[in-house]
Amino acid sequence: MIKAVIFDLDDTLIPENKYVESGFNIVSKYLEQQYSGKSEDIYKELICLYKENSKNVFNRWFDKKQIKYTMEEIKQIVKVYREHKPTIEFYSDVIPTIKKLKEKNIKIGIITDGYVETQKAKLQSLNAYSIFDEIVITDELGRQYWKPHPRAFEIMKKKLNIEFEEMIYVGDNPEKDFYIGSLYPIACVRICRNDCIYGDKKYKNEFREKYKIKNLNELMEKI
Ligand SMILES: [Mg+2]
Repeated sequence: MIKAVIFDLDDTLIPENKYVESGFNIVSKYLEQQYSGKSEDIYKELICLYKENSKNVFNRWFDKKQIKYTMEEIKQIVKVYREHKPTIEFYSDVIPTIKKLKEKNIKIGIITDGYVETQKAKLQSLNAYSIFDEIVITDELGRQYWKPHPRAFEIMKKKLNIEFEEMIYVGDNPEKDFYIGSLYPIACVRICRNDCIYGDKKYKNEFREKYKIKNLNELMEKI
């Protein structure tokens, strides 16, 4: 019998690109104040650079503008980005699904990777701490405990006082979200939404999910 459903956060409960847009919006205002240009234009430039390649966007923005910069300045911009209070929302199927799970007395949790300040800001903005029974940010345990490390799942089992057999984990990333199913008898569900960004990623150790769904409405059929 399933007693708890644990969710990944990014691209499972929220679209991560909305967070990126929200962060670039704040950073573009910061860059306008500190350097030059209009924030609307800077925002478009950052998005454009990000679409080309998600790495080192701020460094590349300075290069493109031919503005000299130091690593300290980059660190400060990254801090503005990571610590900003994001304007983000759950996908529309999240709250109705949570309601159905709660009606069935099924506990709900989140296990998420990502930088701790960033993930906390997202969770606070979503009011997630009062909606979910337990939340584990793997980065709080240490970088080595990010998924697919099993530690967060062991902690969740203990906190919810349930067995692994009674847990479902819903995630989107084949590189790290389903491997736990090979270590413990947790039923893993892959959610592949319309904007499925990890569609072509390889499965960690070729280990696959138990179920595949397109949205959370389909989840209730698996419980
Ligand atoms: Mg994810």
